[in-house]
Amino acid sequence: MRSSVKLGSVFGVPIGLNFSWFLTFGFVVLTLAIRVYPDIFPDSSTWLYWLMGVISGVLFFASILTHEMAHSLIAKAYGIPVKGITLFIFGGVSQITREAARPLAEFIMAFAGPATSILLAGVFGLLWWLTGGAEDEPLPVVLEWLWLMNLFLGAFNLTPGFPMDGGRILRSVLWGVTGNYRLSTHWASRIGQLMAYGLMLAGFAGMIRLIPFLDPVGSLWLIVLGMFLDSAARQSWRQVRTLEFLKAFSARDVMTADFSTSEAATTISEVAAGHPRALRSGGVFVVEDERVVGLVQGEALRSLKRDGWQTTPIGKLMTPTSEVRVVGPDEDAASILQTLESEDLSCVPVVEGGRLLGVVTREDVARLLAGHRELTT
Ligand SMILES: [Zn+2]
Repeated sequence: MRSSVKLGSVFGVPIGLNFSWFLTFGFVVLTLAIRVYPDIFPDSSTWLYWLMGVISGVLFFASILTHEMAHSLIAKAYGIPVKGITLFIFGGVSQITREAARPLAEFIMAFAGPATSILLAGVFGLLWWLTGGAEDEPLPVVLEWLWLMNLFLGAFNLTPGFPMDGGRILRSVLWGVTGNYRLSTHWASRIGQLMAYGLMLAGFAGMIRLIPFLDPVGSLWLIVLGMFLDSAARQSWRQVRTLEFLKAFSARDVMTADFSTSEAATTISEVAAGHPRALRSGGVFVVEDERVVGLVQGEALRSLKRDGWQTTPIGKLMTPTSEVRVVGPDEDAASILQTLESEDLSCVPVVEGGRLLGVVTREDVARLLAGHRELTT
């Protein structure tokens, strides 16, 4: 999920909005301002309904951000890098780059979100109670809506199917009890798919007016949400199988041993002419007196405009060896793929005892996976 609008960082976690979020935000504010609040106090002014709608909407999405922040901060505490939090059409998502290594860590990471929502429901509920809980005053009505929504958010996320938090909790418990990560993921994602079908079915029933309180927009939203959850559940299961397949290979099996090298002073155009593929998809090692001093990754190159290629020496784009992420020859391909993805690298050098053995590029891993898919489909 890409952020289209970046809002800045909180506790070192970048926060952003996907364009699809504006649709949901607009829908929430509109529903509150033109339907929900005018129904509760019919004789007030339009601007008050809109003001209450906007305040409710902003605080609701701030609550969702707080829920996601709880997942992200626990992940960081376990040493798992977090790329950021994005709000989108179905709420929020934390881009946590790796799965937890142990069931307990996964349990705590997953539970932190719903627990935060329920805590927020308690805080808004307490404020609602302190303001008297009147049904005809703006502040208590907004607070009441907020505690109800947070309670709903916490409860909905606890439903036990992947990719909901409840599905992760279920997987961590099954994983802890059986010790079988694969089987636990299989069950949690199957239940997730069943839930998704249930939502789609409810949506279709709403469409043909079988469920009286569901309007066409709500029904359509349920169908789309169901489709999204179904594909997310399938994807998490596919990802587990992919990583499992890659675990059987080591860096030594996957790496390319004839890596490309260049002198630091050589211009990028010259390197591009000599090693077109390495520059595009992998990396070029920079050597000085036959010693490797740095690495230029595909990303660094893409950050430079093409008209600078003629004059820029490749040494200018390199990351010095001391800062390059390397792996040992026995590290498995699954963990290498996760490193490439979580650190946004195009390749990672394979080093043993200070000696460069080769390089594993994303393409190397993709090729291995493509072969696997041909065999299994
Ligand atoms: Zn969550």
